[in-house]
Amino acid sequence: MRKLALALCIGGAFVASSAFANSLNAGPGAEMVPSGKGFGINGNSQAQQNANPHHGGGGNGISYHGGPLILNTTNVHFIWYGNSGWPTTSANNILTNLAQSLGGSNYFNINTSYYNGSNVHVSNSVHYSGAVSHSETYGSSLTDSEIQQIVADTNPTDTNGVYFVLTGPDVTASSGFCSQYCGWHTHGLISGLDIKYSFVGDAATQCPSGCMAQTTSPNGDGGADGMASVLSHELEEAVTDPDLNAWYDTRGAENADKCAWTFGTQSTASNGSKYNVVLGGKQYLIQQNWVNASGGYCSMSY
Ligand SMILES: [Zn+2]
Repeated sequence: MRKLALALCIGGAFVASSAFANSLNAGPGAEMVPSGKGFGINGNSQAQQNANPHHGGGGNGISYHGGPLILNTTNVHFIWYGNSGWPTTSANNILTNLAQSLGGSNYFNINTSYYNGSNVHVSNSVHYSGAVSHSETYGSSLTDSEIQQIVADTNPTDTNGVYFVLTGPDVTASSGFCSQYCGWHTHGLISGLDIKYSFVGDAATQCPSGCMAQTTSPNGDGGADGMASVLSHELEEAVTDPDLNAWYDTRGAENADKCAWTFGTQSTASNGSKYNVVLGGKQYLIQQNWVNASGGYCSMSY
């Protein structure tokens, strides 16, 4: 990402105060670009200046701006940040199974509708590359730069990977977890490499109504089940807009932003919670993603 705006899950107030204000700054005809935090910002960036000659893919409600995509297998790396006891068994099971099962799914196949300037499309291939644990050496309220440092601490070298910093329920992110976003993705230069990474927090005790679609959840862990949808959101954005200069719309919304907090057809699990997809034998309630074809639409499959 971009950060997945909380606003989109709890109503329009925050969208109005952020994206709206920025669009006023942008002026007539100006295009907004991804902020990294789930809402667009004024497009006077070098990225947009570079991007303008490459505009393409219009007609489906989202456009290509010339930057790279992760085209081949996307590697998912987990960094569990928290006290001992994190991840819990259920969080580990829910999110690891998800990372192991997204590749090849009809759901992830939506991302194959995105392509680069040579018309090479994203592949429906995700590889779970494993996890490391990181103790709470930076405390329980993380700045954006500390989150990048947590990634750097793991000595990342995989430029086709996305490194997910998955924080426990006692940890927050000071740039706006629970007040402005539920997660985000971005990239940074770490030891000379363009490393893509993402923050996804456990909202169970901090903002269940803001970042979780439901408190009773298919796998009995509302925090981790909520993270599953946010993680999927950030992954599909990191694949189609890893450097925040590839696929997004005129408001600066990336593919998953355009469908945030919409779930399509749902079924009822045995505990009464809702789910809309089964991956690796587990039921999940995961947001839809934007299909870049047929005029563009939110869907759970392609
Ligand atoms: Zn987003």
